[in-house]
Amino acid sequence: MANKHLGNLFILSAPSGAGKSSLYKALLAEDSNVRISVSHTTRAPRDGEQDGREYFFTNVDHFLDMIADEAFFEHAQVFDNYYGTSKQAIFDMLEQGLDVILEIDWQGARQIREQYPDAIGIFILPPSIEALESRLRGRGTDSDEVIARRMSKAVDEISHYDEYDFVIVNDEFDEAFAQLCSIFTAMRSKSVVMKEKHTNLINDLLSL
Ligand code: GDP
Ligand code: ADP
Ligand code: 5GP
Repeated sequence: MANKHLGNLFILSAPSGAGKSSLYKALLAEDSNVRISVSHTTRAPRDGEQDGREYFFTNVDHFLDMIADEAFFEHAQVFDNYYGTSKQAIFDMLEQGLDVILEIDWQGARQIREQYPDAIGIFILPPSIEALESRLRGRGTDSDEVIARRMSKAVDEISHYDEYDFVIVNDEFDEAFAQLCSIFTAMRSKSVVMKEKHTNLINDLLSL
């Protein structure tokens, strides 16, 4: 399947609180050709999160069984919890021609690139460290201790920004969102993608 260009696979990474979820949710709401891959995680659900929507919430034993069964395309330990993308979660959608977003950390991004070099990496930066902390607080979903741990990991995550194809600074949300949309539009216009999407047109034009 890797040699056939169907949907595009996008990787979205950022330090916690930079705005990944807000950005992809805005995209999902506008673009019916995009899907988010729902990861498995061993962390507890936050208020408002639904099993099967934000994540498949599971326990460590089940997660380890899935690793042993080779059910994951990639998995990583982040903030003492396991997170993973199951193979099932993405290949069915790519085969249907849908663009799929993986919201995963840099460790997972590396594993995906090794197996799927066509994956397109996008890294979201906050406008400042202060803004990052105040967004995490403003979100109101995490305790002070969890926020402190996420902040202490932020610099580590940010240090991997240049492993990605694109970088977006999420200062003004609307501007960041427009940039995200333009990246999706550009990647869908690549000649290798258009060649398959418009085979009949190209054949007609070339047969004149
Ligand atoms: P948030 O980033 O504050 O929304 O917190 P989460 O608990 O949702 O995610 C924590 C970290 O785990 C983030 O860096 C995510 O990108 C990462 N993450 C989420 N799902 C996956 C996954 O399936 N695989 C990997 N490798 N990382 C993931
Ligand atoms: P992540 O998924 O990267 O952890 P979220 O999308 O949950 O980040 O964003 C963290 C918080 O910051 C949320 O409360 C969100 O509403 C807010 N936020 C996101 N983007 C912006 C922005 N450009 N300006 C101000 N607040 C933002
Ligand atoms: P609704 O339940 O109203 O369809 O969606 C509620 C919110 O969840 C919206 O912001 C929508 O964009 C988001 N959403 C829809 N499908 C998914 C999904 O598969 N994963 C995640 N994480 N969010 C989703």
